[in-house]
Amino acid sequence: MTISEKVAYLKGLAEGLNLDTEKSKEGKLISVMIGILEEVGLSIEDLEENAQALGEEIDVLSDDLADVESVVFEDEDEDDEDESEDYDDDWFEVECPTCEEPLIIDDKALAEGFIQCPNCETKYSLDLSDDTVEADDEE
Ligand SMILES: [Zn+2]
Repeated sequence: MTISEKVAYLKGLAEGLNLDTEKSKEGKLISVMIGILEEVGLSIEDLEENAQALGEEIDVLSDDLADVESVVFEDEDEDDEDESEDYDDDWFEVECPTCEEPLIIDDKALAEGFIQCPNCETKYSLDLSDDTVEADDEE
């Protein structure tokens, strides 16, 4: 039995007593008290509904926040992996000055200090100071 149902029951009892709410001071007092109880009961039911709705919204927000957290932490992990991958795959491409064939400058070529064009077989020494390819004197 909710508060409103109890108040409705009380109101029914009062009406069954045929209280004179116009001339009887006691009857008027009881009538006013029951009216106030009805309003209080309705207010409490509204508050309970609001509290339940808020609880459900908080649950939804909590789930959404968990999704955001998983995405954020996944991105951090991926960033770490990307950094190491970028380091491993550190290379760039230049055009052969002789035959315009693309030359791949990677860690191996940088370590050896020269690169040989696979097309015209011209060797180039690698100037590490500004990452440019210059024609070797041997050519
Ligand atoms: Zn070439």
